[in-house]
Amino acid sequence: MKLHFTLLVIAIVCVTQPLLSEEILMHTAPAPAMTSTESISPTWMNNSTSKLQTELVAKYADQQRPRIERGLHQVAEFWRADDGDEAAFEEFVRTNFAGDQATLDTMFNRFQSLLEQLDGHMHEINREFNQQSDLDLGPVLPFDEVFAGYDPSAHVLDDFFNNKLAFTVLLNFPLTTLDERLKNGPNWTPRQWAETRLAQRFDKRIPAEVNLAIGQAGAESAQYIAQYNIWMYHLLDPQGQRPFPPKMRLLSHWNLRDEIKADYSDAQNGLAKQRMIQQVMERIVTQTIPQVVINNPAVDWNPYTNQVQPAAVKDSDAAPGNRPITNAPEPDTRYATLLKTYHASRKADPYSPTAPTLIDRRFQEDREIPEARVKAMLEQVLSSPLVEQTAKLIQTRLGRPLEPFDVWYNGFRPGSQYTEAQLDEMVAKKYPTAEAYQKDIPNLLMKLGFTPDRARYIANNIIVDPARGSGHAMGSSMRSEKAHLRTRVEKTGMNYKGFNIAVHEMGHNVEQTFSLNDNDYTLLQGVPNTAFTEALAFVFQGHDLELLGLPAPDTKSQAEKTLNDFWGTYEIAGVALVDMGVWHWMYDHPQATPKQLEEATVQISKDIWNRYYASVFHKKDVVLLGVYSHMIDSFLYLPDYPIGHMIAFQIEEQMKKAGAIGPEFERMAKMGRITPDLWMERATGRPVGPEALLEATKQALAAAR
Ligand SMILES: [Zn+2]
Repeated sequence: MKLHFTLLVIAIVCVTQPLLSEEILMHTAPAPAMTSTESISPTWMNNSTSKLQTELVAKYADQQRPRIERGLHQVAEFWRADDGDEAAFEEFVRTNFAGDQATLDTMFNRFQSLLEQLDGHMHEINREFNQQSDLDLGPVLPFDEVFAGYDPSAHVLDDFFNNKLAFTVLLNFPLTTLDERLKNGPNWTPRQWAETRLAQRFDKRIPAEVNLAIGQAGAESAQYIAQYNIWMYHLLDPQGQRPFPPKMRLLSHWNLRDEIKADYSDAQNGLAKQRMIQQVMERIVTQTIPQVVINNPAVDWNPYTNQVQPAAVKDSDAAPGNRPITNAPEPDTRYATLLKTYHASRKADPYSPTAPTLIDRRFQEDREIPEARVKAMLEQVLSSPLVEQTAKLIQTRLGRPLEPFDVWYNGFRPGSQYTEAQLDEMVAKKYPTAEAYQKDIPNLLMKLGFTPDRARYIANNIIVDPARGSGHAMGSSMRSEKAHLRTRVEKTGMNYKGFNIAVHEMGHNVEQTFSLNDNDYTLLQGVPNTAFTEALAFVFQGHDLELLGLPAPDTKSQAEKTLNDFWGTYEIAGVALVDMGVWHWMYDHPQATPKQLEEATVQISKDIWNRYYASVFHKKDVVLLGVYSHMIDSFLYLPDYPIGHMIAFQIEEQMKKAGAIGPEFERMAKMGRITPDLWMERATGRPVGPEALLEATKQALAAAR
């Protein structure tokens, strides 16, 4: 998770939600009645800055003029009346402007090393406070959860504005827009990049009450989503039958979607069940779902006619409650909840001068790829002729024309010549304990093409811990600390699934080690965004069989995997465009009611569907693309998924070209957190884009026939 408005970046990466971990935000925003930063500045500010400008230029020579003008402007933009009066402001500027290179170098170096200490130790405290919940160390007591929920870094950013260290940075180092980073970044030295990242830490000053409001809207929407279950045994088909088993309770949209996927293996009733789930999903999007059936096992519901009646069967111990049983629709709560996250986000706009909307903050700051480029990449996938060819192949395999829910087809599967049980046995023998895995790391790394020296170096920077859950990687934020690999080891030893995850997490750890320790500046630690660290981890994970001494997956099996990824990218690219369209619509209609937002979302979903899906699935005006829960509670997060797939294919393609993984992995991971396109150009010779995915799909289609 990444706490956007604090200094701390907790580098935990999980395999279960590959792209979600880093980016769920703490965006919040209550709404003071101000629309521009101008209204925040004290009235004396203009006079004072022009006076200081003349004074400082006279003192440090004309050559410093651009820095002086920029620094004064940046400080003025964030200075509030309660930061001090005119005299205090002028005194601050005179004292803290670094007017010669030597002073500036000292300032830069000291900030870099002290911020490393701050981040590193905050991260260390967080890791320790989470130890009991994260590791397999016996019962978690109630107070352990409080420790785990506590974030000592929560107020650091406020503190840095209050003690004016933030202003010192703003006075001396450049704030940039994404345009500037894209245009000038390729010619910057690593030091210039590091200065840019230093200044970016202080590029917004969101008041605590705004952050609180954003946090609240986020929590409320997450809560709304977390309780949105459908009790499947209570769905009645037109014949009054119950196609789903008792006790099956599916969370929208994830479990509903996964049930559609699972139903492909039910030759007898699968199709009827899939159609029924589609009907349920559509009623959620259009808000024609009866309010009373949400999270309620006391009601039977026919989602086609929308009739409801008291449950004729019981599959839950929950008390029936006394909600009146009518088919009155959910009163647009879905869209009222989404609107709340929008209104909260807007409250931060006036305090974020370089990215004044949530849309800007997501694309220009979090992703650092312009929205127009992201849109073009998504459209390139959606309108590729490979979609039609892949659809034909699916149709052949299913033996029937495609229907809209087949957007979640899951029949592309890499086969294996070993059963899971055989693999479990091999792994358990090799790794009876977490220590056994730890010991084997240098050996595993050498198999991946690292030299013995580099393998030992990396292994010395990784500590293996037994995880309570499935496993995750936790990097460190200072060079004196090591990365932690958390892996699940059963009493009977590690199983294959655990090994597969451990190899993935080890990929994260290796990236974390290089990007923190072997990069010129700790201010540049990391990779451009989460998609990159995931892509690097997938490179490791894709070679797990070879690490066990088994043959690599054959061409056919790789082709199935590629087609699965392509079909998933095609699906989520449309979902992402809906998410983007809906956020634009909200910004264009700030006074909209939940009902109007519902109508707009339905229309946007249909438009995208009609443009890119209707001809493939033989049906127009389908609203399924609007069903993702992220759209309601994740503040424009969805575009990360399709971009992630593209990046993964680009990196994989480059690894294949290079041959050995080790040196190439190190070369890439050392580049640090520059913009995604620049990173990718230096890594592969091309900016971020879908070409590698499309090329691999083309070859996979040829191989899969
Ligand atoms: Zn991961």
